[in-house]
Amino acid sequence: MYDLIIKNAKLINDSVTDIAINHGKIVEIGKDITAPSERVLDLKSQHYISAGWIDSHTHCFARSPIYHDEPDLIGVKAGVTTVVDAGSVGALDIDEFYDLAMQAKAHVYSFLNISKIGLIRQNELADMQDVDAALFDKSLAKYPHFIIGIKVRMSRSVVGDNGVLPLIKAKEMQKKTGLPLMIHVGNNPPELDEIADLLTKGDIITHCFNGKPNQIFDKQNNLRDSIKRAIERGVILDIGHGGESFSFAVAERAKCLDVYPNTISSDIYSKNRLQGPVFSLANVMSKFICLGYSKTRIIDSVTKNAAQILHLKNKGEIAIGYDADLTIFDVRKQTVLFTDSEGDVRECHEQFVPLASIINNIIEIIQEGSENELRISN
Ligand SMILES: [Zn+2]
Repeated sequence: MYDLIIKNAKLINDSVTDIAINHGKIVEIGKDITAPSERVLDLKSQHYISAGWIDSHTHCFARSPIYHDEPDLIGVKAGVTTVVDAGSVGALDIDEFYDLAMQAKAHVYSFLNISKIGLIRQNELADMQDVDAALFDKSLAKYPHFIIGIKVRMSRSVVGDNGVLPLIKAKEMQKKTGLPLMIHVGNNPPELDEIADLLTKGDIITHCFNGKPNQIFDKQNNLRDSIKRAIERGVILDIGHGGESFSFAVAERAKCLDVYPNTISSDIYSKNRLQGPVFSLANVMSKFICLGYSKTRIIDSVTKNAAQILHLKNKGEIAIGYDADLTIFDVRKQTVLFTDSEGDVRECHEQFVPLASIINNIIEIIQEGSENELRISN
């Protein structure tokens, strides 16, 4: 007896399948699974399903005074089954954040800020005294399954007069564990070229399509050589939309040059969720429909690419033995206006609309009204 069978689920390539779940794992995939099951959810070939969406860049430590949110509001209530907090927290607050994170329905992970104070104030790396490598290592050792990466924010407003010093320190701190390092780029100095040249395979540049002067294109609108070289070395590009860090113009130019982000993430926190321009991961993903990306590419960038880059084993794919984290969604045909972080607007005729998140055998309904449509039979 299975715990749950999802019947007639449409995959992003428009093929239709059944998926059986037992003890939170995917145990069978195929046409017409007939085994008995406690619950059956029939999507009637009308709704899409994918591996649960993973948002690689969020802020969900409730006590951060500047960037904070509730893990479940940006998580299961938004079709996101895995929420990665990108450096809201440093070693001083990791215990409290861990306790909060464990209460969430979504899987929550931390990229630990190299500054022990985390995002308690905007310039957490202006004083190098706040980078305490011993304390940092202690936190990593205490939470090896919760802290899955390292965060360093490299913009003028954060590092003050310290230039690339915090990044050099972060690269040193990364060596012991080999965890992925996420680098926020923004206002200069430090210069993007100098930052990019310090990065190695698997490091993640977030805010990769920001429209600030320190963006990936130079003044002649050519891709910087430093970024070209970084991509060739295997450095990862992550969107990290946020309130200030996504430009349609940069994204369009990048697409013309076949430069694509590996992961699409929101950089969501309560303010940009409620007032925009982020609103949700689905909203950010929909902007890439507008840019002409294939839906498969968009879904991959919040599922299997993200799982691979974040080293999340057993996530990101609908495959036997994988975690049964799943997102049910529609691609709704309707005209929507999307705004980037620069205030530029684009018109789009389709959007991703999450209907339900499945995680740990729980089906979390998102869209009001879809309870009836997504009726579960026992
Ligand atoms: Zn952020």
